[in-house]
Amino acid sequence: MVRRVLVTGGGSGIGRAVARAFAEAGCDVTICGRQPEALAETDGGRGMTCRLADVSDEAQVAALFDAPFDVVVANAGTGTAAKLSDTTLAAWNQTLSVTLTGVFLTFRAALPGMGKGGRLIAIGSTASLQGGANIAAYAAAKHGVLGLVRSVAQEVAKKGITCNAVCPGFVDTPMAERAAEGLMKRFGVGQKEAEAMLYAGNPVGRMITAEEVASAVLYLASEGAAMVNGHALAVSGGEL
Ligand code: NAD
Repeated sequence: MVRRVLVTGGGSGIGRAVARAFAEAGCDVTICGRQPEALAETDGGRGMTCRLADVSDEAQVAALFDAPFDVVVANAGTGTAAKLSDTTLAAWNQTLSVTLTGVFLTFRAALPGMGKGGRLIAIGSTASLQGGANIAAYAAAKHGVLGLVRSVAQEVAKKGITCNAVCPGFVDTPMAERAAEGLMKRFGVGQKEAEAMLYAGNPVGRMITAEEVASAVLYLASEGAAMVNGHALAVSGGEL
């Protein structure tokens, strides 16, 4: 039977690569996001369903589940670098509402229609597993995602559903581009140098590709991963 897959934040970066990998594998893919043009570009004639939704909005998320999904990838997330002392309450709330509450709303709405073999997959981060300077709000949200995943995993295990997180290091996407731009301004360095600063902790010594993250997501969605539950799968070249 063709698997029905939902990917949030499907208009760019990791979400785009994940959606395309599932489409390539013959799945029936729905992507959601806030920009129709970006979603259409991800689809690029692959036959995906594009839905508009802000993952921090309870009603908009609920509306995505008018039909059930077998695999739900909570990918949408956001965050900006700032010292704790420079983190405004508005920035804190914005990061948590998308990056953590968005995953909660997505998984909660997904579960009633999800049967045996169902897969809940969150895109966490190495910041789910370790803190770092200038990322307090983001790391708090991503640690929260992992706490949510580990708890939901316990609740759904008997139903034959799994709940896991993929935790990448720096991935070559618009989010990493924005992080590099921040370093270029702060340290007066060029783009290549800024990127090298981002992946300095990665023993392989390069950015991770969105397709490499997608491979991990597809593994967790596979039948063979039925006994992998409540797991944080680092895709970090050995950084963690
Ligand atoms: P990205 O900025 O390209 O993608 C994020 C996507 O989420 C965008 O399409 C954006 O429009 C969407 N989005 C943001 N807020 C939303 C909202 N409120 N409702 C719906 N969609 C929303 O960056 P990315 O790197 O592809 O990030 C995808 C996920 O991977 C995020 O959760 C991010 O935290 C995580 N991640 C990224 C990296 C990295 O280095 N790029 C590393 C670890 C984890």
